[in-house]
Amino acid sequence: MLKINEIFYSIQGESTYVGCPTVFIRLTGCNLRCTYCDTKYSYYEGEWINLSEIISQVKLHNTKYICITGGEPLLQKGIYQLMACLCDEEFKVSLETSGSKDCSHVDSRVKIILDLKTPSSGEVDKNYYENLNFIPPGSEIKFVIGTKEDFDWSENICSQYSLFEKYTVLYSPSHNLAHPKWLAEQILQKKSSARLQLQQHKYIWTPETRGV
Ligand code: SF4
Repeated sequence: MLKINEIFYSIQGESTYVGCPTVFIRLTGCNLRCTYCDTKYSYYEGEWINLSEIISQVKLHNTKYICITGGEPLLQKGIYQLMACLCDEEFKVSLETSGSKDCSHVDSRVKIILDLKTPSSGEVDKNYYENLNFIPPGSEIKFVIGTKEDFDWSENICSQYSLFEKYTVLYSPSHNLAHPKWLAEQILQKKSSARLQLQQHKYIWTPETRGV
């Protein structure tokens, strides 16, 4: 059984799977409290659902992309079995994890999107850097950047752990702190190898398009 906050079908707004129709499985619970968190509703709310029911719900949507997200999915032990089952069913599974938990037990068929916490998140001290020494080459490392300090810090970490050489590195502007144009300019000025990532879903579903 896993405590699930929500299962929904939408367009993937992030990572190299951006734009793909995807089923999202959001797990309840998070050990962090990032300043910019937009999924606070996932900290406690949810219902316990067994594995076969989760897989049945996923199969209702005719897509091969599944994104496991949170909260922090790796807090629940049952997540490893769910990921393995979904891979056995030949779904393309990605895992969004905060970078504070050991990823060594994640099924090797899963694409890990590791969201390393930058200084403006308020949770930079929780990063588990050991992950950067063993996660598989197909993984993606994401940095949410809100300030120049965040940008410089991210470049230093990428250099220190040779992340540009090993992984796809994604720089995403922190929604209320940094404009995409500013971050684009930082990347170009520095001649960084990071890839600018905009959260596509936030441009599709705005208060206006939702009729709010
Ligand atoms: S890790 Fe994600 S869910 Fe947890 S507090 Fe940070 S932004 Fe929110």
